[in-house]
Amino acid sequence: MNDYNFNNTFANILNGNIKCDKIFENESILAFNDINPKAEVHVLIIPKKPYIDYSQFCSEASVEEVGFFFRCIDEIAFKVGLEHGYKLIINNKQLGGQEIFHFHVHILGNLKKLY
Ligand code: AMP
Repeated sequence: MNDYNFNNTFANILNGNIKCDKIFENESILAFNDINPKAEVHVLIIPKKPYIDYSQFCSEASVEEVGFFFRCIDEIAFKVGLEHGYKLIINNKQLGGQEIFHFHVHILGNLKKLY
């Protein structure tokens, strides 16, 4: 896990230095509301382990870890009332629009306002 910057915003949320509006937490995952929501519901899901981006998560996490992470996303979407549908976004690396270099998935719901 070279090059991971332990001072990034989500690392600071994980270590308690920055507060978040928590939606869900288990032993390996934290989900919280995005501070600048792009839809009525905008939740971020992060693994607790320090993966920089989606590429590193895919190449270094175990198959079980990856599977568990993505399964939890659907459970979290149901928990926030998006059982009828939602959009997932992963911005991977700088040219993919990633701004915070701790891997995360965006859940966006009630998208009528986006279109
Ligand atoms: P990305 O462009 O995929 O790296 O997305 C980073 C997201 O983190 C953006 O949607 C920001 O609004 C969100 N964000 C930044 N700081 C915080 C914070 N302290 N708490 C919650 N969300 C944040």
